[in-house]
Amino acid sequence: MKIKENLTEIKSQLPAHVTLVAVSKTKPVSDLMEAYNAGQRIFGENKIQEMTEKWEQMPKDIEWHMIGHVQTNKVKFMAEYVSLIHGVDSLKLLQEINKQAKKHNRIIDCLLQIHIAEEETKFGLNEEELNEIFEILKQVQYDNIRIVGLMGMATFTDNQSQIEKEFNHLKAIFDKLQTSNSQLQTLSMGMSGDYQLAISCGSTMVRIGSSIFGNRNYQ
Ligand SMILES: *Cc1c(COP(=O)(O)O)cnc(C)c1O
Repeated sequence: MKIKENLTEIKSQLPAHVTLVAVSKTKPVSDLMEAYNAGQRIFGENKIQEMTEKWEQMPKDIEWHMIGHVQTNKVKFMAEYVSLIHGVDSLKLLQEINKQAKKHNRIIDCLLQIHIAEEETKFGLNEEELNEIFEILKQVQYDNIRIVGLMGMATFTDNQSQIEKEFNHLKAIFDKLQTSNSQLQTLSMGMSGDYQLAISCGSTMVRIGSSIFGNRNYQ
């Protein structure tokens, strides 16, 4: 395993304004520690239970990002420590995050996930639903959450121009929203296969797993 070398190689390609989330789902703590010892402090997981087990075992200066789809009834298990939730796609979920964050006297940063892919299976809001949420947030104050940006996943395809089109679409939504919401700073898009393209389209946060830790083994 050459986790340290992979990290160094990827980081050398990232502009200074782009944050690297090391996606460590399915990987053992020993692999994460290798990345930690190479200086990585932001890790992304897609299952709350797995993330919590790793949080318990690992050093406490790590930022844990939830990048997967979140079920409302599981928010309570990560509210104590999670740094950023990428996949928020409903007002109901935002309200639950607010409620659980309050119990821990915290403010939890969230990204709203936008559906940009062609596939039906990928979660996320459309532009209309996104605007509805922002309208409600103007009227109701949720003191324990902060929406800091947007997240999206492109279609799983080799067609670069299609991926580029989807990233540009998300960037355009982000720019439009930013004119009236200056707290929006983060645009989370790009994974192992498409992060360079995502950065050229305006990404400020890339979520990279297999290019750091190797392919995942799902059993
Ligand atoms: C697994 C995952 C990634 C990382 O994927 P790689 O192709 O291994 O880099 C990024 N984002 C999300 C939401 C994921 O679930």
